[in-house]
Amino acid sequence: MQRITVGNLELDVVKKDIKNLHLGVYPPNGRVRVAAPLSMDDEAIRLFIISKLTWIKKQQAKFASQDRQSEREYVSGESHYVSGTRYLLNVIYGKTKPGVVIRNKTYIDLYVRESSTQEQRAKVMMEWYRQRLKLQIPKLIAKWEKKIGVKVAAWGVKQMKTKWGSCNILEKRIWLNLELAKKPIHCLEYVIVHELVHLLERLHNDRFVAYMDKFMPQWSIYKDELNNFVLDDTNWEPQQQH
Ligand SMILES: [Zn+2]
Repeated sequence: MQRITVGNLELDVVKKDIKNLHLGVYPPNGRVRVAAPLSMDDEAIRLFIISKLTWIKKQQAKFASQDRQSEREYVSGESHYVSGTRYLLNVIYGKTKPGVVIRNKTYIDLYVRESSTQEQRAKVMMEWYRQRLKLQIPKLIAKWEKKIGVKVAAWGVKQMKTKWGSCNILEKRIWLNLELAKKPIHCLEYVIVHELVHLLERLHNDRFVAYMDKFMPQWSIYKDELNNFVLDDTNWEPQQQH
């Protein structure tokens, strides 16, 4: 896979043994992916994308507005994801300490104070997500440090708008997106592997891809899953155009 930039648009291009071009815009962030015939050169692909720019922007705007509409209120009955599994939120108001408990593999019981605001409820949930991630990450890092033969000096979890993870190569520090707590665990693992491989190769070049193929042959499936995984009930079929 190749990453190319057209104007201010970044997109993934995959060359395959196919006859036609396929263009897809994927939720939740409006990622653009083009599958092109093996024989097609980069300039022709670029021209094709330019001819579809208006359409692409329109699809991306659609996702952006759906994203706003589906913003969480943290009230009972909403569905929320934990490690890729969907649960129903059950808000329990009372005097007990705020906290979160998964019950009957079905519910997320969210304990909050009587007068809690949406923001406070969100904060309790996000703190719980953060603690879960912080329990999961160390053993995954240890496992992959050994396999890849690198060592991170520090890691952390934070909310990021556009990236699943990042790596400061000089300081050997990796950051992981708090949103990963909602994703299947192998997606979290994929992001960790990706960031650790950056300690061997800075750029997303052929060498980087070769390392990914070697250490985690399934990586591109996990990547697609991560970027296409829908975080709520809205039916987001990938938008296809030929
Ligand atoms: Zn990267």
